[in-house]
Amino acid sequence: MTPDHNDLWFLPLGGTGEIGMNLNLYGHDGQWLMVDCGVTFPRPGRVIADGTVHGRGEPPVQMADPAFIADRREQLAGLIITHAHEDHIGAVPYLWPLLQCPVYTSRFTAEILRRKLAEFDLLHRVPIHVVDVDERRTIGPFEVQWLALTHSIPDPNALMIRAPAGRIFHSGDWKLDEEPLVGHGYTPGTFKALAEEGVTAMVCDSTNATVAGHSMSESALEKGLLAATEDAPGRVIVACFGSNIARLHTLANVARATGRYMGLLGRSLVNMCGAAKAAGVWNADDHLIPPAHLGYLPREEVLAVATGSQGEPRTALRRMAMGSHPDVELEPGDRVIFSARAIPGNEDAIEALITSLKERGVEVITAEDADLPIHASGHPARDELRAMYQWVQPTIAIPVHGEAEHMEAHAGLARECGVPRALLGRNGDLFMIRPVPGMRRQVVETGRLGWEKGALVRVV
Ligand SMILES: [Zn+2]
Ligand SMILES: [Zn+2]
Repeated sequence: MTPDHNDLWFLPLGGTGEIGMNLNLYGHDGQWLMVDCGVTFPRPGRVIADGTVHGRGEPPVQMADPAFIADRREQLAGLIITHAHEDHIGAVPYLWPLLQCPVYTSRFTAEILRRKLAEFDLLHRVPIHVVDVDERRTIGPFEVQWLALTHSIPDPNALMIRAPAGRIFHSGDWKLDEEPLVGHGYTPGTFKALAEEGVTAMVCDSTNATVAGHSMSESALEKGLLAATEDAPGRVIVACFGSNIARLHTLANVARATGRYMGLLGRSLVNMCGAAKAAGVWNADDHLIPPAHLGYLPREEVLAVATGSQGEPRTALRRMAMGSHPDVELEPGDRVIFSARAIPGNEDAIEALITSLKERGVEVITAEDADLPIHASGHPARDELRAMYQWVQPTIAIPVHGEAEHMEAHAGLARECGVPRALLGRNGDLFMIRPVPGMRRQVVETGRLGWEKGALVRVV
């Protein structure tokens, strides 16, 4: 199955029909371009590794099976990573040896990627091309332009993928944030210009397609985080996604306003902060103190940001809840603020975490029970999707990055916006964009791989 010069194809191997492990392929004129290569969370099931059946317990790291493209890797022109969230970047160190292609990405994302590759001793093998907003690169038969858009992490990009057979707008994960606090913003003019050129298909984020209205701006959270912090009698620990550098900036402002010192607890947070500094997206006024100092300071002078908002084992917050963190021992009167939402599937782990925190006499404030907003989604709600369809005016809408329910709502919205056609499918379906729009179901066998004891295993 090879696209010829009349064909323009989209083939998702992961992330379409589910949220997580994005792995997309675009095909034209005998070659393929991969967009994103992410990981996902384990789900209940069984693992077969070398014929061994595991009744319980899946590998903690899982990703889409890239067999289709790994089998024809000489046709793979390159891999683009749209942003540094794990569901887009996380599988690169595990799968790159099977792909062996150049990688193109933005500055902050490249910093994160280098740190991941170094752990796998791949740093000097993987060619990484850093691309700035508005730059264009020729990758195989495609000309790709990087477009500025906003999300919940620095340096996210949308892509305009041009080929002689047609033009595809690939949104990546996005929201419309007027004040993203960190990095580049967006301008509607960018997307209106695409409409003038003509967009054959728009491949777009469905995560919040069932949510009415408009996502909240990162800049709107400072009030809520300040209110949740200022009357705390003891330490304040904030759990959030470490990759949200804008949130860390807001928390640094809150720390200053409340006479507290801010420090980071957890390796991934420290890593993210290092990448942000290296990529030039860390605000120089946001001073951090070393974790060891957090334990010695008067309690009312501490604001610690911690990993573990999803109740994951071995994270800083879990250790504090168990009383086994080396630097901070929580006491009655300390307060934990969850500036994050629960990723579906993690609710039980988070509930258990909250229970053990409360047993220590620690107050807990979640995004649901705070008086003012303390968390903002990074994905477009319906009003934002409408705006984007009005700007881009594609001929075909292809909803991705969602479960069936989200993608169906997204397709309906696209039709309401006057898009003539929506193609709905899932991983393994071939979306034929040109010459004649249509679908071929399940042309490629898809699946999951897990990383177990230093090797890839099939997860079934
Ligand atoms: Zn994302
Ligand atoms: Zn995502």
